[in-house]
Amino acid sequence: MNNRLFLAALLCAVSAHAADLQYFEALEPHMGTMFEIKLYAPDEPSAKTAFQAAFARVTQLDNELSDYKPDSELNLATKAAARHPVHISDDLAAVLTTSQMISEQTGGAFDVTVGPLTRLWRQARKNHQLPTPEAIQQARERCGYRKLHLDPKSQTMTVDLPDMQLDLGAIAKGYTADEALKVITNLGIHSALVAASGDLAFSDAPPGQRGWKIGIGSSDRVLVLTNMAVSTSGASEQFLEFGGKHYSHIIDPATGMGLLNDITVTAISRHGLLADGADTAASVLGCEKGLAFIEKNPELAAFISEKANGQVHSLESSRFKKLNAVSQ
Ligand code: ADP
Ligand code: MG
Repeated sequence: MNNRLFLAALLCAVSAHAADLQYFEALEPHMGTMFEIKLYAPDEPSAKTAFQAAFARVTQLDNELSDYKPDSELNLATKAAARHPVHISDDLAAVLTTSQMISEQTGGAFDVTVGPLTRLWRQARKNHQLPTPEAIQQARERCGYRKLHLDPKSQTMTVDLPDMQLDLGAIAKGYTADEALKVITNLGIHSALVAASGDLAFSDAPPGQRGWKIGIGSSDRVLVLTNMAVSTSGASEQFLEFGGKHYSHIIDPATGMGLLNDITVTAISRHGLLADGADTAASVLGCEKGLAFIEKNPELAAFISEKANGQVHSLESSRFKKLNAVSQ
């Protein structure tokens, strides 16, 4: 048995169906965070099988999509893609295609080619020192979503410069939550939730309930939802405090600087891939433009809040208001 697998105390589910489903949960560290899976299964062996299969898929995706692992598919492909088109896996193609779509829709506010900048800011957080304007300028020259090209026909990527670095930190966890949930569903378990810290994907309601109760961002709202993904960005532990300012780990590609505004975005979609990308995209755009971006995409709803001068300014997208009708 996988000794990292923690099967929680078996709670008898309130079953509304003839088949008695029981509640199980498991927790494993992946992608620099904790992945939690909750599910309702007929017995312990089926729950264990589902946990193992789902976590195996998470491990596979980490090996493909991580920018921390030097030999991830992402890093190896980016290096090779400056010389010739490189064939990429279905997973990397799916994540990069949606990333580039969000970049187009946000005029580059969302941009997975920000790797040189995110690395610079990671170092800055370690050293408690702001990056110099020269270093930021040099890193910015190696960024830009227009320097990344995807060919859907041959499923290949190319990049314009040899020293580019891609960073899927804004979108990979949402995709991974989706994919882990698919594995569980394919094993015949239809009521499950996968959470990768702020990125959630879940299927049918727990037995006897209307849906999964999901807390929304920094608000005290709770929505009851099924077959959705919910991603929250902001209010992170990862920031740099310097000169009385609070620089976020989310970067505005237009300036190369960590965001200074205290914004939290919760994006809701049927697809975790889109929800995760959208929460970061709307954070960079800020309240009003972020809301406009969400409204334009029929697959998205969002709750956005920003704290400034001790005041909280909150916005709800039109589709979020409709979801709200079922809130408790
Ligand atoms: P979290 O990692 O806290 O869940 P996000 O989903 O918002 O939050 O992702 C933040 C990560 O996105 C950063 O750590 C970095 O890897 C990456 N990133 C930062 N700025 C951008 C940007 N403008 N576009 C795309 N990705 C970004
Ligand atoms: Mg995100």
